[in-house]
Amino acid sequence: MGNYNREKGIAGKWTVPYAYIMKNISILGSTGSIGTQTLEIVREQKDIRVWGLSAGKNIDLLEKQIREFHPKYASLEEESDAKALAVRVADTDTRVLSGMKGMLEISTMQEIEILVTAIVGMIGIRPTIAGICAGKDIALANKETLVTAGHLIMPLAKKAGVRILPVDSEHSAIFQCLNGEEKKTVEKILLTASGGPFFGKKKEELGNISLDDALKHPNWSMGKKVTIDSATMVNKGLEVMEAKWLFDVKLSQIQVVVHRQSIVHSMVEYQDGSIMAQLGIPDMKLPIQYALYYPDRRARSYRKADLFQIANLTFERPDPENFRGLALAFEAAKTGGSMPTVFNAANERAVAEFIEGKLKFLEIPEKIEHEMRTHSLISRPNLDEILEIEKEIKRK
Ligand code: NDP
Repeated sequence: MGNYNREKGIAGKWTVPYAYIMKNISILGSTGSIGTQTLEIVREQKDIRVWGLSAGKNIDLLEKQIREFHPKYASLEEESDAKALAVRVADTDTRVLSGMKGMLEISTMQEIEILVTAIVGMIGIRPTIAGICAGKDIALANKETLVTAGHLIMPLAKKAGVRILPVDSEHSAIFQCLNGEEKKTVEKILLTASGGPFFGKKKEELGNISLDDALKHPNWSMGKKVTIDSATMVNKGLEVMEAKWLFDVKLSQIQVVVHRQSIVHSMVEYQDGSIMAQLGIPDMKLPIQYALYYPDRRARSYRKADLFQIANLTFERPDPENFRGLALAFEAAKTGGSMPTVFNAANERAVAEFIEGKLKFLEIPEKIEHEMRTHSLISRPNLDEILEIEKEIKRK
């Protein structure tokens, strides 16, 4: 392990040349749930060098991160915020950038091998593509990228010879269960879902769900948007679409299984009847670390799953009747083309309106369905068309 001197930052010294031992990364969305947990791993493992950090609006946290991790570049969404931050960190070697230009710079830096895409929303697509084209492996958390542009991203990654390493716990589990196996022997992917806080409830009981109720996930602590997506089960729908692209399987080979304990993070069923599963406590640092160090497994000091204490693992069928988001996601995935973009953009907008108190919980799938029914399908949208559809839906 390297002897990186954190106090000295970029000018720090390594006892052996760092190119042999350090992992060099940039993080998009460093101030969010996945971003901060990625930085916890950097802090714990001590052999990852952070070259670029990008955030939205959280200037205070980004300043702290700059002072601790000494990136070469940091970026914020708005130019005015970036100017203010530049003044605050004028005593450091970090240069502050802004907007899409800043994210593109951070995603393509010569020094990095891995780009962690921990930003939320379709804004992550362009920098991910830029990172791939610059030959960076992608530790992919931003699920919107594959959901809306999987048909562009996966061939591009193949052509560039870069790896798309899943960060999402379910996809990481599937990735681990597929390790060393022949793809043609896969029968089914069994994608587990916690069911969120309201599984088991009927539509009549979901009418007056408040924002606070929707933000109480039973097992996972995540960003606001993905927590609400879990409550509506739209998140599982997005994960189905993501899995289809990541593992190159047919939609009919993906089965959602409700598993309330969130201990089995997903499974793969093989043609001989064997089912491989990956288990662990619900802790995103595990899949994040696996993506950063793949194919190595690093030791970590953390709470491990105590099977005697867990005692029971249960598996149930999903309920697409009462959780329409999941049914609509399967429909969007089956239709393909621009429909997953419509599904995703309509959901992003509806969730934002739910957070602002402008929509009721059950109106989220209603809004998605309305946009899907009124959309004129494009069978193979290019990036501009994808982004235009998003803009159009958000503008309405
Ligand atoms: P958070 O909301 O916690 O964090 C989002 C990050 O993106 C923040 O750093 C935020 O900056 C930044 N950001 C938002 N908008 C912009 C913008 N316009 N320009 C630049 N930066 C922006 O999200 P999560 O960490 O929960 O999720 C990130 C992604 O990972 C999502 O796609 C989610 O679906 C996926 N995911 C998350 C999991 C989880 O456990 N959280 C699990 C699996 C996948 P700021 O806060 O400074 O405004």
